[in-house]
Amino acid sequence: MGILENNDDLKELVDKLNFKEKVERSLSLIKEAYERYGDGLVVANSLGKDSVCVWDLAKRVSPKIRGFIVTTRFKPKETVEFMYEMVARYPELKIYRNDVEIPDRLYETDPDRCCEILKVEPTRRAIEEMDVKCWVTGLRCTEGRTRTDFKEVEERDKGLIKLNPILIWKEREVWQYLAVYGVKVNPLYAQGYRSLGCLPCTKITADENERAGRWIGTSKCGGECGIHTRSLKNVGGDGI
Ligand code: SF4
Repeated sequence: MGILENNDDLKELVDKLNFKEKVERSLSLIKEAYERYGDGLVVANSLGKDSVCVWDLAKRVSPKIRGFIVTTRFKPKETVEFMYEMVARYPELKIYRNDVEIPDRLYETDPDRCCEILKVEPTRRAIEEMDVKCWVTGLRCTEGRTRTDFKEVEERDKGLIKLNPILIWKEREVWQYLAVYGVKVNPLYAQGYRSLGCLPCTKITADENERAGRWIGTSKCGGECGIHTRSLKNVGGDGI
């Protein structure tokens, strides 16, 4: 039985494993999944610190591993510039976005719907078009109230495995990895952001909670855009 089938107590491992052990565990998870799913293993890269960390880990497993970026019309210009830099360096990263017309300020009146259209729909399209069997994310269980009960390997949608190889990493360990291995990050972090998203829905805060700056003033505050909670495969209708 390989590491993908592990039944480890992840909450315990968050504090028990040291930085090096966590890096080795993450590399093993990606390596084993890549051996199993080959080109069907694809990394979702949101251009945040966790994503660039996972992307770097995946590239260490194999430079051939592909990825996709979901962007929206509301991303800050720094993120857009960073995205084009990443794609120029890694042409195996494909950009997805939804340019459909939406009501003005939908992010205020119905942020769930806005995220569904601008983020979840292109994610579904990426998974379909790139023939993804296993998508790899930068999700971490210490990141906020909505992220505590995920597993390293999940099958929320039948036929689509989700691998969360840095699930047990702490925020500090992500920064440690990026510093130790010299991984370039989105310049917005220098301004004080701790979690990055679309411009109207992301603020700089001094709150303890890492995702507290997301969707402030709405029911989604500190929450999720939906790509980790909605179905991404076998969705009927227009898929949004
Ligand atoms: S983060 Fe805000 S602007 Fe971006 S898709 Fe979601 S609601 Fe819309």
